[in-house]
Amino acid sequence: MKKLISSNLGYPRIGEKREWKKALENHWKGIITEEELIQQTTEIRLEGLQKQKDAGIDLIPVGDFTLYDHVLDTSFMFGMVPERFKREGYTDSLDTYFAIARGSKHAVASEMTKWFNTNYHYIVPEFDQVNPTLVENRPLRFYQEAKEKLDIDGKPVILGPLTYLKIGKGPTNEGISKLLEAFVPLYKQILKELQDAGVKWVQIDEPIFVTKLSTEELFLAKVVYEELNQAAPELNILLQTYFDHPANYKEITSLSVQAIGLDFVHGNSLKQIKEFGFPKNKILAAGIINGRNVWQANLEEKIALLNVIRNDVEVDQFIIQPSCSLLHVPITKRLEQKMDAALKDGLSFADEKLKEIVILTKGFNEGIESVSQEIKENKEALARFTSVVNRDEKALEAYNNNIEQGYPGRKLSFSERIKKQQEVLKLPLLPTTTIGSLPQTAETRQIRTKWRKGEVSNEQYEKFINESIEKWIQIQEDLELDVLVHGEFERTDMVEYFGEKLNGFTTSKYGWVQSYGSRCVKPPLIYKDVNFDKPMTVKETVYAQTLTEKPVKGMLTGPVTIINWSFVNEDVSRTYVQNQIAIALQEEVKQLEKNKIKIIQVDEPALREGLPLNEEKKKEYLEAAVYAFRLATASVKDSTQIHTHMCYSDFEEIFDAIDELDADVISIETSRSHGELISYFNNKKYTKEIGLGVYDIHSPRIPSVKEMKENITKALQTISPRQFWINPDCGLKTRNKEETIRALQNMVNATNEIRKEQHALK
Ligand code: GLN
Ligand code: ZN
Repeated sequence: MKKLISSNLGYPRIGEKREWKKALENHWKGIITEEELIQQTTEIRLEGLQKQKDAGIDLIPVGDFTLYDHVLDTSFMFGMVPERFKREGYTDSLDTYFAIARGSKHAVASEMTKWFNTNYHYIVPEFDQVNPTLVENRPLRFYQEAKEKLDIDGKPVILGPLTYLKIGKGPTNEGISKLLEAFVPLYKQILKELQDAGVKWVQIDEPIFVTKLSTEELFLAKVVYEELNQAAPELNILLQTYFDHPANYKEITSLSVQAIGLDFVHGNSLKQIKEFGFPKNKILAAGIINGRNVWQANLEEKIALLNVIRNDVEVDQFIIQPSCSLLHVPITKRLEQKMDAALKDGLSFADEKLKEIVILTKGFNEGIESVSQEIKENKEALARFTSVVNRDEKALEAYNNNIEQGYPGRKLSFSERIKKQQEVLKLPLLPTTTIGSLPQTAETRQIRTKWRKGEVSNEQYEKFINESIEKWIQIQEDLELDVLVHGEFERTDMVEYFGEKLNGFTTSKYGWVQSYGSRCVKPPLIYKDVNFDKPMTVKETVYAQTLTEKPVKGMLTGPVTIINWSFVNEDVSRTYVQNQIAIALQEEVKQLEKNKIKIIQVDEPALREGLPLNEEKKKEYLEAAVYAFRLATASVKDSTQIHTHMCYSDFEEIFDAIDELDADVISIETSRSHGELISYFNNKKYTKEIGLGVYDIHSPRIPSVKEMKENITKALQTISPRQFWINPDCGLKTRNKEETIRALQNMVNATNEIRKEQHALK
């Protein structure tokens, strides 16, 4: 039995108190120079490395750090600067790097999209003009830095060629073989140079291997890894997969590498190795500590799992590591000083997870007795945590009562209930509306911060919110929008807001994770039974409704989005928690109805992102999502109109599920891809009402009346004007007031012109 090795796959970049975010944003604002940015971020990086070293991790990842995104780093390393930036004089400077990520005066940013099933966004590589070169051996630079500055013999992390080339945009219709031809030589060069510099281990991330690959792609993978291995025969390649088990287990585990990293937390890796075995000549890197949640592991259970791997499967050499990079979890719970102690006992952020890995490794190498104290402490901490979780019989009973009422559904079919809704709402053809949030000023954020600190009283805060609502109801009236919103001024974040009001949630103070670029989110923690406490949105919505004759939409975040953007305790099933949230929202819906709100929008922007990577699990996920949404919404009166909103354009795979949500009106974010969408509706019969965002709110540019008219006209070629709604493609929270008013004015003018044309047609 060989000695086990502890390893980590990636460490958060953002700094314990988001120092990284501040440094970046200060640099973008011109407050600090490039040198200062480099110096400050180097400190953050070295601190993270030092902590991993102090924790006792054997294989410390290097080169996983970034100034924006690791996929963009890979593109940049290969000189993949899109032509439009080069035309503007951009070269390979840091300014160019940020321009690709964030856009420049004349060139639009590269697209950004979600990294597999996470809420981390990467910059989509553009392979249109493929002429890659190795601008710099980036992994080597970071390997040397760690060695020289901290005496760490690091493990460079590289985004693997199959994943990198498959997640990009470009000539993929010819398959990726052409791209591989251009890139593999560069990968070989990187590995060869690493080997020559004395590197022992390199981690090549290939999360794409958990999705189904074609026979051709599997063949290419085989050839590519043979080549890579030959290019640096002394180097140990750890081929790393995560977020699920490999979809083609046998092919992937037989690739020509020294070690295979599998996720033992998500998916069926254990079942697969039991069934198909694990190659005798390879090392298994077992991802057994969950890199996607924040709960302390049960070490005894982990030991049992490791024993199974070792004894049943007879793997005799393995590495113990997290299931994926720790970039998806906050850095340390140490800073949560105000948190309830027993609750804190249940937590484990990145630094604490590393400790768990080291304890397990030690236990295996030196005998379980050597860590008996740590195991005892773990057990005690978990027991204290369980005592605050305290699952409630009554909650279960209430839950069962709800579920026993049968599959949730509206009383009337859409075609019948829409008539009743029209009688009440009396909306014109092509009703205009917005998605919910309206511009939040710096003042709004300042007042909220002061209110949270107790420097501003409840009355003052409420007065300020009411004034914002008044101002914007007037603006919406002046713009002649048809369905108004209160503006969500009281919310910082659409999930956190509900998390703070529902029972069962708590929030951390420093539990930030990177979402995209410098933007971080602080997911709430759902740790015990979720239920309704008191109305959450009624006050503001009803106040807005008293100010206007036009309908004001109630605005809720849906159960699937709340759960996907939170960290959820795993002592009960996700579906159970999701349905508990749905039942709580159902109560809020009832309260809104009781207060005469006629339209209720329940947003599900995270529904698509949670879709499992594994084909076999997709159906179940979607069924549960539909169920929860209907549980929250379907008990309304026939005349109450339910809306939903989702932010994505790649919805085709889930459109049937979207339809089954049975919302009366859906709005989907499609302003960037109108063409594709319209063609989709050519072949698809959709009978309910729909709004396809007619302009992109993510850009400060104000689209003209003409441009929006074109968008609308295009949509009306396949969607009947009687079904169609006119709205921007997402919430307007991040835009400023002047931009917003001008853009909405153009939107209303465009609508009026189209209405006239429609009238003339009749
Ligand atoms: N109602 C939310 C808003 O307008 C929806 C946000 C979202 O889709 N991400 O901000
Ligand atoms: Zn949106």
